[in-house]
Amino acid sequence: MSNIPKIGVSACLAGQKVRYNGDAAESRILSRKWSDHVELVPICPEVGIGMGVPRPKIRLVKNDGKLSLINPKNGDDFTGKMLEYSEIQSDLLASSGICGFVFKKDSASCGLDRVKVYRGDNPQAVREGRGLFAMVFTSLNPHIPVIEEGGLTEPKQAEHFLSRVHFFHEWQILGNTGWDAKKIIQFHNENKLFLLSRAPQIERFLERMIATRFDEGAHPENVALEYMTEAQQALNVLTKKGRIAHYGKGTGEILPSTN
Ligand code: SF4
Repeated sequence: MSNIPKIGVSACLAGQKVRYNGDAAESRILSRKWSDHVELVPICPEVGIGMGVPRPKIRLVKNDGKLSLINPKNGDDFTGKMLEYSEIQSDLLASSGICGFVFKKDSASCGLDRVKVYRGDNPQAVREGRGLFAMVFTSLNPHIPVIEEGGLTEPKQAEHFLSRVHFFHEWQILGNTGWDAKKIIQFHNENKLFLLSRAPQIERFLERMIATRFDEGAHPENVALEYMTEAQQALNVLTKKGRIAHYGKGTGEILPSTN
């Protein structure tokens, strides 16, 4: 188990010249600042399915409710190949121990939010999609924190993402030799303050969830995964400004703030 967290990243952001036109889209924040503190794992899904560099530009197209990944010049359809690759690669990345993923924006494969989707012959796209690889990765791994490149230049978003990555990394280290009830409770107790400061509503929920799931006889590995999934989904929302947790007077108990 690595001492520093591994983070998956769209390969062009890591400086690899894998874009459709042979360029990179290097994020200096990743390659010059973060690379000392995290291990970057670059992946290019379009090169991964054998499209090569340079290659035709592809787009998301929706017809009759069905989303496809298409070369608009000749109609070549890469949907099946991309879905198959994305499922395999998402599982491999998760089992290799990545603690987060940074996606390239606006890409029909890697974009996380507001990717252009075309309908029929309409040349006007609607920004409502998610790249196919990003869609599969986030569906299969809702417990792994993700961010788009734009968030890296927003200090609060970047800090919040890194805090979620380190929270995940600690969970990974503790569970490396297998989970049991004692370890899950220990992890929760050690991270109470973190949860209260970032998503106060989830702390009590997780405490109750652990108790309920063990009463139901759930396997500790399942409880640990459900715990991280619920925690990361709640942490998806950036913390509001201001005081959000405080100590109960005279009791020493940590209480969610009513502010
Ligand atoms: S956005 Fe994704 S698919 Fe496109 S070049 Fe970068 S890594 Fe490859």
